[in-house]
Amino acid sequence: MIVSWTPHRFTGGILALDTANTVVLRNDPQKTFDRFDDPNEIARFAEAASGFRASELGGRRLRALEPHDIKPTVISIREATDRLFRHAVSNGAVATSHLPAFLTACADGLSATATDIGTPGRPFGDPRTPIAFEAALAVSALSLLRDETVARLRICPNCSWLFLDRSRNASRLWCDMAVCGNRQKANRYYRRRTAAREVSNA
Ligand SMILES: [Zn+2]
Repeated sequence: MIVSWTPHRFTGGILALDTANTVVLRNDPQKTFDRFDDPNEIARFAEAASGFRASELGGRRLRALEPHDIKPTVISIREATDRLFRHAVSNGAVATSHLPAFLTACADGLSATATDIGTPGRPFGDPRTPIAFEAALAVSALSLLRDETVARLRICPNCSWLFLDRSRNASRLWCDMAVCGNRQKANRYYRRRTAAREVSNA
């Protein structure tokens, strides 16, 4: 099935988090699935992320020319990112034991790319040429390793996605109020109705 890469699927707010969220419902072993099972979706995701993450990328586009070849690298960065930062949100601290696998995966993502990054206005390098997706994913994942960023990472209580809370008072609860916030509200309403009916039937 072809994935429709809608804005909702980019509510992580950072390329590496949106990528981590391509595994759906990590909190539910029965329902979880991987949107990158078909490697062609990596290329389609990269295309969509070039638009949705343009400000993070400084306008540099992502290119995933050989999605079958890069899939193992992409998956290992994605999973190491999820493990490290999910733990950091849950425990309020980064576990050093997660860093070797994370850094090795990021190194693999960068090993085939030579480009200059990190100049003012060009965080991912010169926007006139595209950057390899796996390299940009590594740069994005490494950028999360700052105390002030870790302090703003959240896990959506409905869908379990990771996201960056940029709200002024750091109080964002849902990855996407319109999707997960409303679903929770509907569930609460349903439970109240059911409880009321049970009382009146008693
Ligand atoms: Zn959610």
